[in-house]
Amino acid sequence: MILACLDLEGVLIPEIWISVAEKTGIEELKLTTRDISDYDKLMKHRLSILDKHNIDIKLIQDVIGTLSPLPGADVFLNKLRKNFQIVILSDTFYQFAMPLMKKLGYPALFCHNLIINDSNKIVDYTLRMKDQKREAVKRFHELNFKVIAAGDSYNDTNMLKEADKGILFCPPEKVIKEFPQFPVTLHYDALLDEFLSGQKSI
Ligand SMILES: [Mg+2]
Repeated sequence: MILACLDLEGVLIPEIWISVAEKTGIEELKLTTRDISDYDKLMKHRLSILDKHNIDIKLIQDVIGTLSPLPGADVFLNKLRKNFQIVILSDTFYQFAMPLMKKLGYPALFCHNLIINDSNKIVDYTLRMKDQKREAVKRFHELNFKVIAAGDSYNDTNMLKEADKGILFCPPEKVIKEFPQFPVTLHYDALLDEFLSGQKSI
């Protein structure tokens, strides 16, 4: 049995922070790992903006409640499930992602946690561990699993390198240029084909 490790945002669901930026009209929240590859810098920046605009977890969860998976994501997952065990490796937070997991049939999700105070303000965050996506793939290898991984952005590239096969899905141009070793897919049928061909070749 081969594990399929998938990124979440940009692969199965829209970018949560961009959706929050659009709903609140705060343009500065539109920066993602596609723009700032240092995750800690990006998160500190986001938390300071939330503080400045008095945006609490409830408001963000209201926005997330209106989101849906990307069109075709649920069908893709159901096809992938026939051949692989699926684990979502994400740099989002459980407090953000869980409402959307229902719409994806509750796949296993490994992500991070927000620290929220009594007034619902997001005061900090804790990472499961540094470079969690790559470390998870390493551990799966130690358990004698082969891994095929797919993601769209900088924070996925260590996971893709560590996997037996790495696949990019709808990545930005600069990621394609910097990581020419990974096949690029632009829709779910192509992504599924890369997983199925990887199953035969790894
Ligand atoms: Mg992503």
